[in-house]
Amino acid sequence: MNKKTSCDACGLYFNEVYLHKNKGGKNCCNDCQLKISGISPSDIRPISKRKLDKVIKAAARTPPLKLKDLKAKLKKEREEKQSAKNRNNSK
Ligand SMILES: [Zn+2]
Repeated sequence: MNKKTSCDACGLYFNEVYLHKNKGGKNCCNDCQLKISGISPSDIRPISKRKLDKVIKAAARTPPLKLKDLKAKLKKEREEKQSAKNRNNSK
């Protein structure tokens, strides 16, 4: 039985495991949590606000994206960017 609860910030429905209660006692999904907190310090640090927004937007289009997947996605994007840079340098 998966009880669905709506996120008070974005209004989308998620499984409870995907939601957190924030200080005001409101439900907050992982995406909004990241958006609000700007990512916890021990987590993914080297990420620009613009990139984060982009990721959140992408995540919003595919709601059941877990934080783990998000991290993997970011890592992959970073690697791709890095290899693109390396290619340019080798020219
Ligand atoms: Zn939300």
